[in-house]
Amino acid sequence: VVSSAASLTKDDKSWKENAPTPYSVLCETLSKIEAISSRLEIQKLLTDLFRTCLLKQTNIEKKEQHDILTLVYLASNSVAAAYECVELGIGDSILIKAIGEASGTAPKMIKQKYEADGDLGTVAMTAKGKQRTLGFGIKPKPLAAKEVLQVFREIANTTGGKSQNLKVGKIKGLLVRVQNPEESKYIIRGLQGKLRIGLAQSTVLVSLAHAMVLSPPIPENDPKFKMETDVELSEDGKKVQNTKLPLDTRLESAVNVVKKAYSQVSSFDALVSAMLTVPLSHLNIECTLRPGMPVEPMLAKPTKSIQEVLKRLDGKRFTCEFKYDGERAQVHMAENGVTKVFSRSLLDTSEKFPEVPKYVKEACVETDVKSFVLDTEVVAYNRETKQFVPFQILSTRKKTEESEENAKVKVIVQAFDLMYLNGVSLLDHTLSERRDLMKKHFKAVDGKFQFATALDHKEDGDTTMLETFLDTAVKGQCEGLMVKTLDENATYQPSYRSLNWLKLKKDYLEGMGDSVDLVPIGAYHGRGKRTGVYGAYLLACYDVDSEEYQSVCKIGTGFSDEDLKSLSKGLNEHIIEEKAFSYNVSDSLACDVWFDSCQVWEVKAADLSKSSTHKGAVDKTGEAGRGIGLRFPRFERLRDDKRPDQATTSDQILEMYYAQDSVVDTGGMGDF
Ligand code: ATP
Repeated sequence: VVSSAASLTKDDKSWKENAPTPYSVLCETLSKIEAISSRLEIQKLLTDLFRTCLLKQTNIEKKEQHDILTLVYLASNSVAAAYECVELGIGDSILIKAIGEASGTAPKMIKQKYEADGDLGTVAMTAKGKQRTLGFGIKPKPLAAKEVLQVFREIANTTGGKSQNLKVGKIKGLLVRVQNPEESKYIIRGLQGKLRIGLAQSTVLVSLAHAMVLSPPIPENDPKFKMETDVELSEDGKKVQNTKLPLDTRLESAVNVVKKAYSQVSSFDALVSAMLTVPLSHLNIECTLRPGMPVEPMLAKPTKSIQEVLKRLDGKRFTCEFKYDGERAQVHMAENGVTKVFSRSLLDTSEKFPEVPKYVKEACVETDVKSFVLDTEVVAYNRETKQFVPFQILSTRKKTEESEENAKVKVIVQAFDLMYLNGVSLLDHTLSERRDLMKKHFKAVDGKFQFATALDHKEDGDTTMLETFLDTAVKGQCEGLMVKTLDENATYQPSYRSLNWLKLKKDYLEGMGDSVDLVPIGAYHGRGKRTGVYGAYLLACYDVDSEEYQSVCKIGTGFSDEDLKSLSKGLNEHIIEEKAFSYNVSDSLACDVWFDSCQVWEVKAADLSKSSTHKGAVDKTGEAGRGIGLRFPRFERLRDDKRPDQATTSDQILEMYYAQDSVVDTGGMGDF
């Protein structure tokens, strides 16, 4: 059921046509979202907000000034693309000072209330409430959403000696203008970097896609944009115009289009500006990879044996590459020669690896290479022995290295893919074409740049070569092999955990198989030798459909004393007053403290089993209330290259559960 355009825009005096969107309108939606937990309802509320904005602002000349972009940023609580590394997360002391000054309350009082309440947003709301009853002078001009975003950006970019006072001044400037106390709440929570309303970025993208279908700014039948792809196959196989397909199909296809576009440009500015320029059917042509904008990397599915690899690839030609144990690095060079390095979670790591652009440029064979994007693994390397050095050593690298010479840990670039060359995206080319182009335009440079060692498989049923190759990889400090299709189904699929890339790690050959990456959501106080730190933690996987974190194990082993101290210290900054409603945890696992989802840990375990305590993939096990849990989990390391929403998903947990030898025969999911 969708709202009609008329019901969205009627009788709204505070939000005039083609006028800036009032911040209060956004807060009203956020407040409604906070009160519900149904993801579909949340999606609908946000879709209605976006639609109303599209219907109100029909006359905006410059795409980047349209408030739909402002609302997308504010709803997802970000101020810039992830790769620009501009983050909110203002310290409590600055916020307390600003709330105090804006409401005329002593900071001590605010602090006390904060300690009692646990939410500075609500404290700001009540403080502001008091001020209003005092009846201060003339009503200030209401805040526009755009102004709030602008001030958030200024605050995030304010650094230096006097920055504290400047920030307090700017925050106060916002707080004194709020019309209703809810606005103060979301300003403060937004500045803290946590809106606490359970709104994930994927919901923002889904709602945006739905809004574009229901209230399109550029109609699908605009004659300027006619082309063959405007035609889609309907269920009975007949070709029909996109717009004639059932609404559900159109909404679903729009979500795929928008998610694909976002995975290629990773920036709301680029995405929204394209949405306001071309119809949805053209979005994936408009939003393609470009140097300077990192792409969500392609991911691999785990497998447990060479036999399984052969079965899954079923006669397709494939290659096996060494799986290096380093850090993923997407290296971009734009036409102007500016080179950047991006991490797995799209953060700019150019300062961490200042030598990488140099090495890659040295590796360019021809002077006619004007621009490129390479997918690589940066690995710690000993130039004298010509051997790789374990990941643990690479992880000691500082976030900023002055130069190659000063860096204690030397690295080498192991290139395995070419995604873009001289103005052309290669994502739709096959791996064998991409690899040929990479090898034509780049060359190995001793100790600095190499191509991933690879063995192309010949379909003769003999697996000895592959076994020897896996063995060589493992002996050479690699984690195992990456197996990739070469011709058939061999395009580069950003952000996709594809069956066309399989990982075969040495650990897979025994036990549970792959390690998992989980989010610590709570902890239990330690006793005895662990007094003063946490003795055990509760870990969760991520369920993409419900956007919730589902508990999968309690963990207390694998930690060094140093780990216990540093993990406790880091997480203590993220304590929340009660279990977040996006955490699916049974009551029997009540933690002493709960954390915001903020970290990812790599964990190994003996196996996975159905559990009436844990909630991994709880809706998908086919047994009411029973989820999947990990047995005998052991902490491996902190994964600071992953965001919590990139943790192992409940679907992966379910796949791993069924892939275990002990359950494969029980008529589980078989070969998925
Ligand atoms: P995932 O990225 O699949 O969620 P993960 O981050 O834990 O899991 P792994 O399971 O170790 O990573 O496997 C994928 C990673 O392996 C890639 O992200 C990349 O950093 C690394 N890698 C090393 N060698 C290669 C290679 N030849 N091809 C692709 N990736 C490689």
